[in-house]
Amino acid sequence: MLRIMSCVIYEHDPVFLVLAVVTLLFGSAVTVRLFARVRRTDKAIRRLWLTLAGLIGGGTIWSTHFVAMLAYESDLILGFEPVLTVISLFLVVATTTLGFYVASTSRHSYRIELGGLILGLGIGLMHYTGMRAIYLSGIYEWDTTFVVFSIIFGGAFGMLATNRIGRPNTRYSHYGAAGAFCLAVGLMHFTGMSGFTLTPLDIELEVTRLVSDEILGAGVLIVMALLFLTTFITSMLDLKNAAESSEHYKHLALHDPLTGIANRLGCDQYLEKALSETADSVANVAVLSIDLDRYKTVNDVHGHAAGDHLLRTLSQRITDILDNGEMFGRFGGDEFTAMKSDVFTEREALDFGRKILDTIREPVLWKETSFEICASVGFSLFPRDGIKPFELMEKADLAMDRAKMQGGNCIIGYDEKMDTAVKERHVLAMDLTNAIEKGELEVYYQLQNDANSREISGVEALLRWHHPERGMVPPDIFIPIAEETDFINILGKWVLHQACKEACEWPRAISVAVNIAAKQTCDPEFPAMVHETLLKTGLSPARLELEITESGIISDTAQTLHIIRQLKNLGVRIAMDDYGTGYSSLSTLQNFPFDKIKIDREFVKGIHTSRHSSAIVRSTVILANSLDIPVLAEGVETEDQLTFLSEQGCQLVQGFLFGKPMPNADLKAILAARQDRDFVADDPVLQRQVVRRVS
Ligand code: C2E
Ligand code: MG
Ligand code: MG
Repeated sequence: MLRIMSCVIYEHDPVFLVLAVVTLLFGSAVTVRLFARVRRTDKAIRRLWLTLAGLIGGGTIWSTHFVAMLAYESDLILGFEPVLTVISLFLVVATTTLGFYVASTSRHSYRIELGGLILGLGIGLMHYTGMRAIYLSGIYEWDTTFVVFSIIFGGAFGMLATNRIGRPNTRYSHYGAAGAFCLAVGLMHFTGMSGFTLTPLDIELEVTRLVSDEILGAGVLIVMALLFLTTFITSMLDLKNAAESSEHYKHLALHDPLTGIANRLGCDQYLEKALSETADSVANVAVLSIDLDRYKTVNDVHGHAAGDHLLRTLSQRITDILDNGEMFGRFGGDEFTAMKSDVFTEREALDFGRKILDTIREPVLWKETSFEICASVGFSLFPRDGIKPFELMEKADLAMDRAKMQGGNCIIGYDEKMDTAVKERHVLAMDLTNAIEKGELEVYYQLQNDANSREISGVEALLRWHHPERGMVPPDIFIPIAEETDFINILGKWVLHQACKEACEWPRAISVAVNIAAKQTCDPEFPAMVHETLLKTGLSPARLELEITESGIISDTAQTLHIIRQLKNLGVRIAMDDYGTGYSSLSTLQNFPFDKIKIDREFVKGIHTSRHSSAIVRSTVILANSLDIPVLAEGVETEDQLTFLSEQGCQLVQGFLFGKPMPNADLKAILAARQDRDFVADDPVLQRQVVRRVS
């Protein structure tokens, strides 16, 4: 160690020595950073950083060596042989690059250190090749111990350098790596030089072909300057690219890839900014929640490409009509949001919502089809309805839910009562789960009659809930709740079982129609459940009819069709309920093997007042008759309606004209009376009297 110290202090010129140290410190710092980059980038750009790390690392080792050799005070050095000098530079650049390459090919294995070893051995190779390039007027000798130690130091500290970058355990690890790199170069050099002894000899040498100290010094400076300049330029370009790609990623993170408008995160940020800007003014900020009505149907019936086209077109159209202080974003699916700053009255928020709704309503063309879609819009106002972004969004959603419940295609502002309604819904959902065990549910039956003979042809099972506190809760309220909570499967199974069991006890073997929810028709276990129920209750499959709505069919057409076929194989009939309210009624009729079509009561209600309704009824009957499918009209309340329907060719009717839904006991009484007094069937007045008596 002493020998090394004395070699450094007494045998070297301090000025050049300082220059060598500065070169080494600066070069090592840049080298380890470049190597760290190699490990953190991928593919093409990785090769660039690897080349730079090899060039700068190798260049640093080489320059340090030759500057230190210039510092070496000996009159016996005649000069440097140019070819070997240059070869030593290429050698060290090659080994350093190889070392860094090997160390960068693994995240955890020994290759990290193996690369460092190659780097360290490369320093030794360069050193001793470089020494061969020196022409001396004397003979020299190497002390093997120092040579071996110099190589060991180079290898060991080389390994430590790559280890600190490859397996960092503190944030300062790269300083450790740079330190180890310096030690690898420094110790290698000075340990080697300590074992170097030179004995002067008076020999004649051809010195003209040698490179002088000055030229070598200038060469070293030029090499280093070029290398650092290259690194500097590359780093600048990289910084610019990084800034550009960070902008690009920022844009991606804040925008929806399908429509190009702001996504949830983008909307959140916008709202936060809008709220903070309005904090010290008297203006409101309107937050709108927008949900397209029947978007799912477009997707299901016309495919996802059509759905995407619709979303893109609407987003573009709405973005085009936005004024200053207004924004429009997409949360996902068919959920959108819009915001407007500087709103002073509720009217302005309503107008903004209406502007968006009107744009949504404009037809969108797709191939040969034109979609006319509408939306449910809810809005909340800052600070009236809340001061936090999530509160405002939640309340706008609540208002939107209310708009949806009211049939959609409208705008509703948030109102405190909505919170209570939501809570009530939750309570009702909880109560419903216990309703079966508590015996609060009952199946009612409504007669279905022949439109001409008025004879009872069957009944529809309609569920009733006798709530202990609220009294009778209508199915329109609790069936959607059950559908939301998935309780519908249990409820549906119960109704089916109850209806089949009770039907077996009726004095006349009429058929019973049971309503099936959309979720049930998607359940692959459903046909097996129906089969089991028929076996358990003993009802003949020919007496069971299942009523399916269009929404229950189109969510997964292929799967539902498969389930319907399985049900038909059991001998059960399938009726299409609420015909005319769906989106693609015609195509559904063509594709599904229905045994009955039930025209929705809304159309029956309007047969004498609305040309549209009567046209739908008329065309449905014609279509169904041509397909040989019987038609049942729902909601028949008057004799005029009955006459119209029977004239049009509608075979079956159901409605208050023949009786309201009634408990099982009343139905049994009617059926028994019918059996006893068949003549009632021919007399509508008498028939209604019987119905009234029992209901
Ligand atoms: P739906 O299947 O269309 O049932 C017919 C509805 O029309 C019944 O309402 C019935 O009471 C009503 N109705 C019948 N005749 C007339 C009439 O002349 N005038 C008027 N204004 N209405 C009439 P309800 O019982 O309130 O049932 C409503 C809906 O709830 C049903 O519509 C059905 O979709 C659903 N629902 C009822 N029970 C069940 C069930 O067990 N399972 C499922 N999934 N849904 C059910
Ligand atoms: Mg029905
Ligand atoms: Mg119906």
